[in-house]
Amino acid sequence: MRAYKGIRSLVKEIEATKRQGKTIGFVPTMGCLHDGHLSLIRKARRDADCVVVSIFVNPAQFGPNEDLKKYPRDIKRDLGLLRASGVDIVFAPGIKSLYPDKFSTYVDVGDLTSGLCGASRPGHFRGVATIVVKLFNIIKPGIAYFGQKDAQQAILIKKMVHDLNMDVKIKIMPIIREKDGLAMSSRNKYLSSQERKKALSLNRSLESAKDLYKKGERDSYKIIKKMQGMIPQNNGTKIDYIDVVDIEDLKSVKRISGKTLVALAVKVGKTRLIDNTILGG
Ligand code: AMP
Repeated sequence: MRAYKGIRSLVKEIEATKRQGKTIGFVPTMGCLHDGHLSLIRKARRDADCVVVSIFVNPAQFGPNEDLKKYPRDIKRDLGLLRASGVDIVFAPGIKSLYPDKFSTYVDVGDLTSGLCGASRPGHFRGVATIVVKLFNIIKPGIAYFGQKDAQQAILIKKMVHDLNMDVKIKIMPIIREKDGLAMSSRNKYLSSQERKKALSLNRSLESAKDLYKKGERDSYKIIKKMQGMIPQNNGTKIDYIDVVDIEDLKSVKRISGKTLVALAVKVGKTRLIDNTILGG
């Protein structure tokens, strides 16, 4: 495994890899790796000749009052996990490499970024789209892997790749959960044991949505009501949103007919958690 901080030496190796006719599978991450990340890496390992993982806490996707400074970082541990997973190349640049002084170009994917997390995190997806384009331009992967955990992100990356005629295939992989159902996230580290217990209500509410759907319920309002009732909003737990949206345009639907995303964001103490499930289709 080779780890790079600088772009120039990394690009040299990428070009040599391409000259050998090898396919590149790419997994972008913000580090502090867990089994959710590793599931994407394992898939890339199965699909591609050369697996590249980036670790970069992207300042452009954090709002001014968000957790950029305290976002958990553990590069030593991450490198150990990546080595053990058979990763070929790690790209862990400093901020100035990707955002030099006078950097001024951003990518805006439009409508898909306005609802769900976009509503309470203005500018977040502009930052995400921008860093993903930059990383794709540097690494030039044939396939890139994203988690359904961040469903809105994965869907808008697919749209961006399509709209901008980018030559990369996007694969979206299932959500990996802890044994008790909590979706794995680097931010789970912030939770106290009390909050960790409260956080279980997110997945429980999604399970109840699945259950209602299985029993024939198609009315989004009723599903959302049931979910709201399962997330006790007290002692610092606050629902940011629960929404039932079309899987492609991410617009709210009143009745579920095609493939539908049920997504939620909940603030547990100071930690904002997201989770989702797909119904129908
Ligand atoms: P992050 O480091 O949070 O930016 O995540 C990097 C990638 O891992 C993104 O594509 C995420 O959607 C994906 N990911 C994060 N958590 C999970 C999870 N629990 N299951 C599957 N993929 C995940």
